[in-house]
Amino acid sequence: MPDLEMTTTSGATTGVSQARVEALAERIRGGLVGPSDPGYDSVRALWNGMIDRRPGLITRCTGTADVMAAVTFACEHDLLVAVRGGGHNVSGNALCDGGLVVDLSLSRAVRADPARRTADAQGGATIGDLDHETQPFGLAVPMGVVTRTGIAGLTLGGGLGWLRRLHGLSSDNLLGADLVTADGRLVRAAPEADADLFWALQGGGGNFGVVTSLSYRAHPVGPEVFFAVVMHPGSDAAEALRFFREWQAGAPDEVSAFAVLWHAPSLDEVPAEHHGTPIVMYLALHGGSPEEGEHALRSLRAHGSPLADLSGRRTYLEVQRFFDDDYPPHSMRYYWKSRYLDRLPDDAVDLLVSLNEAAPTHESTLDVWQLGGAMSRVAPEATAFGDRSAPFLLGIEANWENPRDDDVCIAWARKVYAAVEPFSSGGEYVNFPGFYEDNDALVRDTFGGNLPRLAELKRRYDPTNFFRLNHNIRPA
Ligand SMILES: Cc1cc2nc3c(=O)[nH]c(=O)nc-3n(C[C@H](O)[C@H](O)[C@H](O)COP(=O)(O)OP(=O)(O)OC[C@H]3O[C@@H](n4cnc5c(N)ncnc54)[C@H](O)[C@@H]3O)c2cc1C
Repeated sequence: MPDLEMTTTSGATTGVSQARVEALAERIRGGLVGPSDPGYDSVRALWNGMIDRRPGLITRCTGTADVMAAVTFACEHDLLVAVRGGGHNVSGNALCDGGLVVDLSLSRAVRADPARRTADAQGGATIGDLDHETQPFGLAVPMGVVTRTGIAGLTLGGGLGWLRRLHGLSSDNLLGADLVTADGRLVRAAPEADADLFWALQGGGGNFGVVTSLSYRAHPVGPEVFFAVVMHPGSDAAEALRFFREWQAGAPDEVSAFAVLWHAPSLDEVPAEHHGTPIVMYLALHGGSPEEGEHALRSLRAHGSPLADLSGRRTYLEVQRFFDDDYPPHSMRYYWKSRYLDRLPDDAVDLLVSLNEAAPTHESTLDVWQLGGAMSRVAPEATAFGDRSAPFLLGIEANWENPRDDDVCIAWARKVYAAVEPFSSGGEYVNFPGFYEDNDALVRDTFGGNLPRLAELKRRYDPTNFFRLNHNIRPA
């Protein structure tokens, strides 16, 4: 049998003997998948349909022992390694061409402990997996707003969702994690175990190892909550966005809201003449009782003359799944960037409105995330995540279907990113990283004063930068 040709960390090609591959296969309970295996294409498919990478070997890990075997093997052969949690990063870094993928998509077990109000999850679990096990006990772990997203990549980069202002980032609710480091060892990171490493995992990304399990604090939420969904026509867009800016400043921490600049979906509730026209949509969850929520969100709903108001009581699970169908896997193509905004003056409002009108597809959006509340009360140096003082995050989402539109869609997102720079004092959200075109600027601007400590920890845990396909922190 010929050797398997694989890519090394330097980009060179190396031959790996079939005997060694077979020996590895004995140790990976979930099995190995290579280019000649049936199912290779479906196993290597990621959420972003733009990504078409062909790994040399995919190790389908079901638990920590599999991950230890995969990492040790990759290390022995100096192979380029990608780590796949939920496979939802737009950059496609969960795969690599020619290298080895530590694929955790079969590691999705979750265990809730209602008495202690905690939940433990494997490193390939999705938000939906976590919600499924916690909501029966009236509990929720703060996560993102689309339930198919992987919790590991999301948490390691921070994690912003519907509970961000009430209970903080996902990483703020992390109690501990098990990870396999570049030397194939299992390490526990927690405030009482390895506090430095734990600090680094709260925002520092996949730089330090493969996380095989995460423990979280859970909070009483639901089962019913009040959820506001209000659409304003393009003719009132600037006015609606200005109102949102003022309104959100007085909202209680229970409320986490967005103003989304978009094009109206073809829903029965939206008058047909508005379908496909620019809109501003308010979305707001109140994390307390539905009665309190209805009261707190009344003034947001009462503003102006909305073209549709879909607000009401919903189960927390319905809110969590509200966007799921808007982000189909594989078929759609995505390119996302972001910028923290220090302020949203009238000229920024007008700019966003015109950039939305110029969006290349009706699926693309500009998302003004309301920040502040609990997430902003954590000091920048308390976790790797860094500065949290910005009142808004602008999410820039180019979403499209036709490969012919790749260039125009990516160009639009980059244009928005450049245009809003005057309203930002720097920093992007590492989980919306484009294709990491300028990784060094991304980590410098985002981690700021935390970068030297992160680089030192990177040197301690991964001196050769073995885990490099991420928002990469170079070893000090
Ligand atoms: C539809 C959609 C909605 C989103 N909504 C939100 C949102 O509401 N809030 C928010 O904060 N973010 C959101 N995101 C962004 C999301 O946080 C990132 O894409 C994140 O990387 C997804 O995690 P994943 O495990 O699926 O990533 P993957 O693509 O599997 O992995 C991305 C990177 O994360 C690291 N990684 C993943 N798993 C592990 C692991 N077990 N151990 C070590 N490193 C690992 C690796 O470096 C890997 O390259 C959304 C993304 C999508 C596609």
